[in-house]
Amino acid sequence: MFDKVLIANRGEIALRIQRACKELGIATVAVHSTADADAMHVRLADESVCIGPPPASESYLNIPRLLAACEITGADAIHPGYGFLSENARFAEILEEHDITFIGPTSEHIRIMGDKIEAKETAKRLGIPVVPGSDGGVPNEVEAQRIAKSMGFPVLIKAAAGGGGRGMKVARSEEDLEMAFRTARAEAKAAFGDDSVYIEKYLTHPRHIEIQVFGDGKGNAIHLGERDCSLQRRHQKILEEAPSPALNAEQRKKIGTTVANAMKKLKYRGAGTVEFLYEDGEFYFIEMNTRLQVEHPVTEMITGLDLVLEQIRIASGGSLSVTQEEVNFSGHAIECRINAENPKNFRPSPGKITYWHPPGGLGVRVDSGVYQGYRIPPNYDSLIGKLIVHGKNRNECLMRLRRCLSEFVIDGIETTIPLFTELCRHPDIANGLYDIHWLERYLSQSEG
Ligand code: ADP
Repeated sequence: MFDKVLIANRGEIALRIQRACKELGIATVAVHSTADADAMHVRLADESVCIGPPPASESYLNIPRLLAACEITGADAIHPGYGFLSENARFAEILEEHDITFIGPTSEHIRIMGDKIEAKETAKRLGIPVVPGSDGGVPNEVEAQRIAKSMGFPVLIKAAAGGGGRGMKVARSEEDLEMAFRTARAEAKAAFGDDSVYIEKYLTHPRHIEIQVFGDGKGNAIHLGERDCSLQRRHQKILEEAPSPALNAEQRKKIGTTVANAMKKLKYRGAGTVEFLYEDGEFYFIEMNTRLQVEHPVTEMITGLDLVLEQIRIASGGSLSVTQEEVNFSGHAIECRINAENPKNFRPSPGKITYWHPPGGLGVRVDSGVYQGYRIPPNYDSLIGKLIVHGKNRNECLMRLRRCLSEFVIDGIETTIPLFTELCRHPDIANGLYDIHWLERYLSQSEG
């Protein structure tokens, strides 16, 4: 086991990882930018190192500075959390070269899955069903027209290097395609420095259902069921639940086994999430995330497993702590992403938290990196915490969620809590009847 882990992240996830380390008796090193000197993850770590000014490129994304922090503190492993360097194959490779353990998969697997075209081809080869679309990249508009016509509109142009919903454009007709193709490419170039794009059939009413997997890197792999992340705004998840209201035990087992078998063949190591769109009873692979996800707590709540602890165990050469047969699903869990944003127009609302009263009680978990008196810096994304609620069944979970949202008080800044209060009272949400387009429709109606 490791003696000391450096956590190359900030906010709620840095704290989440620290907690797992503490329980394992591992010393923790926090790194931070000058904007985060007062952050909770810095206060609670055993040691901390300031690695640069506020821009992420000069701090949380700066590999030489992270290496120096490892060197100074003698950390033997790095946990990257999510975002920042968590899916940077070069970073994982550099750590391998420096004999520092990267708590995650091999750099090779990160690289394959980081290129969405290659990821799709790999998935297909491993027996995972994928969204119909172009065979690989699409070089020009003429080719794009040809493929789109043969597939039928609407189609979606997607960036090979995509992430965070950027570089993605829908074309509903032949006339739309030229513009969509050009803007997707330009956006991809600006966001990722790579303008390769590919085409997929645009699904009109799918759910987003993802499977959590774990591999030991030696050919053993298990799945921990699914998470339904269909409630999205601009292709970004805002509420997640497990299990999915759309699947039964048999369907779960079938897709879970398909994915676990694929991970065995790949000799995948650590935590991963295989994302699907699910429409009319069929699963279609869209991408794989080779890291811990923001929404991992809902899986923890229904399985009783600590996913970060599992990641650390595997990275230190241990085996999976449970077999597939030992994984039990119990009850229902929902997570709401609490953002420091205006709940109507979603404008960021950084500033000082003057009052902070999180909810409590049975089945309630709040993962957050803030505290009363803390000033949220304007430099990073607006997630300030996650409210995760567990109940014996979906109904109880929703009742508890409504109670928790009414109890949660955050003053001094605007948050998305009022939006969740509305959503969890809506009959479609209560009945589990929503697809990935539901929230956008709902928001545009409530605007008008
Ligand atoms: P990113 O890596 O940018 O998040 P993903 O491929 O994971 O991109 O897709 C993000 C979201 O975009 C999905 O959850 C879904 O809402 C939407 N999406 C992606 N592919 C399709 C598709 N073929 N049809 C309809 N919606 C899609």
